[in-house]
Amino acid sequence: MTELMDAVNAEQEVLDTKFMLRAYQLAQQAQCHDEIPVGAVVVANGQIIGEGFNQSIMLNDPSAHAEMIAIRQAGQTLQNYRMIDCTLYVTLEPCPMCAGLMIHGRIKRLVYAAKDAKTGAAGSLLDLVNHQGLNHQVDVCEGLMANECSALLSAFFKRRRAEKKAQKKAARK
Ligand SMILES: [Zn+2]
Repeated sequence: MTELMDAVNAEQEVLDTKFMLRAYQLAQQAQCHDEIPVGAVVVANGQIIGEGFNQSIMLNDPSAHAEMIAIRQAGQTLQNYRMIDCTLYVTLEPCPMCAGLMIHGRIKRLVYAAKDAKTGAAGSLLDLVNHQGLNHQVDVCEGLMANECSALLSAFFKRRRAEKKAQKKAARK
């Protein structure tokens, strides 16, 4: 029985890695647009039904987070505002807005890579997705590809800080 469980878990991990890799690619796309590199995919029955990357600056829209875009697309694919039995894969722990959206959408499972100590709402700053006072809770799995996804974010912020410094220096001349 434990062998069977191990096999099932190993299979799940292979699938999770496959979808997290796609989320990582989407995060790289965000980076190409000078957006904070976060990517997300929504999966139902082993198929991607929605994907998105962070586009807040491009769209002048503070709600244009990767998860928001992926979930909106999933709703269109499903033609349903409920995402029962869906899994959301995202490269960074969701913020309170996106965690709230997951609850509205009844997302079953969340797999996220890097923790966000400042705004994470899936266990770091808050635990909205597992708040017992709310009418829906999400199964959470964290840490998959955390090193890769947080390296992408740190490199982005490092580059942005260097650019800002260079701009300030240029302005002083
Ligand atoms: Zn968010």
